[in-house]
Amino acid sequence: MTLDDEVQAELAQLEAMHRLRVPKVLDGAQGPVVTVDGIEVASFASNDYLGLAGDPRLARAASASLDEDGVGAGASRLIIGNHRRHVALEAAVGDWLRTGGVRLFNTGYAANVGVITTLARAGDVVFSDELDHASIIDGCRLAKAEVVVYPHGDLPALARALDQHRGNRRLVISESLFSMDGDIADVTGLAALCKRHDAVLILDEAHACGALGPEGRGVAAAVGVVPDVVIGTFGKALGTFGAFAASSRAVAELLWNRARPFVFSTGLPPSIAAATTAAIEIVRGTDGDERRRTLAAHARRFRELVPHAGGAPESAIAPVLVGDDQRVMQLSARLLEHRVFVQGIRPPTVPVGTSRLRVSLSARHDLGDVEKAARLIAAATTR
Ligand code: PMP
Repeated sequence: MTLDDEVQAELAQLEAMHRLRVPKVLDGAQGPVVTVDGIEVASFASNDYLGLAGDPRLARAASASLDEDGVGAGASRLIIGNHRRHVALEAAVGDWLRTGGVRLFNTGYAANVGVITTLARAGDVVFSDELDHASIIDGCRLAKAEVVVYPHGDLPALARALDQHRGNRRLVISESLFSMDGDIADVTGLAALCKRHDAVLILDEAHACGALGPEGRGVAAAVGVVPDVVIGTFGKALGTFGAFAASSRAVAELLWNRARPFVFSTGLPPSIAAATTAAIEIVRGTDGDERRRTLAAHARRFRELVPHAGGAPESAIAPVLVGDDQRVMQLSARLLEHRVFVQGIRPPTVPVGTSRLRVSLSARHDLGDVEKAARLIAAATTR
């Protein structure tokens, strides 16, 4: 058998399991209404929670920087790629989140891998929620530390695990707003446990950052907790691309020196950093407040019409459990016939047997579209 024969067999197996991913092509700007494969649809699939990805103010900031700064960063920031736009963005994030240190990463994936592998070394123990994102799982796999996975949100189980697994440094890592379930971690409880057990708290606020909390600072800020490291992404509510780790100044300096996805990768395009700095300003201001209020109202309205949708009442992520992999994709296709695009989420993104429609709301959705999608989904999934 040639490599291609083997790969074809693997693809056929994925298809037989209804797990083959087939790309759809988007045309034009991301937003509440998009053109997918040439058809205009209301989109309930993106993480553009505040509707900023297609905002002309961000495009203008990127475009002005492109004219001035060119396209590529040219090298890793440690070599010659450290542009003033990166430095300005790190300062803007630090000012926003009130932390002493900020390190940019090219993606949230790279941020999780970089932070975990830098801080968790041989002899250390990482405690990770079982529903933590793939990038956290991969960071744990790459780290030389022992990894303990605790049941989702189960703080008593985490406490027992902390009692049982000693080691040099102990790190607890959890998402704050879970990406596929839309529920919110008990961050106050996590912080208290970490304090009691002398463990470090790393909080992945990828989906909360911009969308929740005062000035969009996330769940930790909302409940008055200061984790040791907050991971945030710019590709979701902030509407751009890239990510950050916010921490003490010392941790940020260590990441500069040791985080391999940071050290060995070309820096973000300066124009993306410029657009993100503009996005933070919007997110922090009254426009951001208004968008967060609208988003929360949409989330509540959706759940009124689809009471079996999961997630916290005001969470923009509203999963509707289907279970079967084939059925979830059929439902997604049927919604698309009504010009409503909701992505079906299957393993390995979610545990086997829990395939779901992941409804993602945006502050820029038309209320009528939210209600239309909700009614269609309620009718299709309550039978
Ligand atoms: N963390 C979580 C919880 C996520 O859901 C994601 C993206 N799906 C990431 C990190 C990775 O972020 P990025 O898309 O910037 O790589």
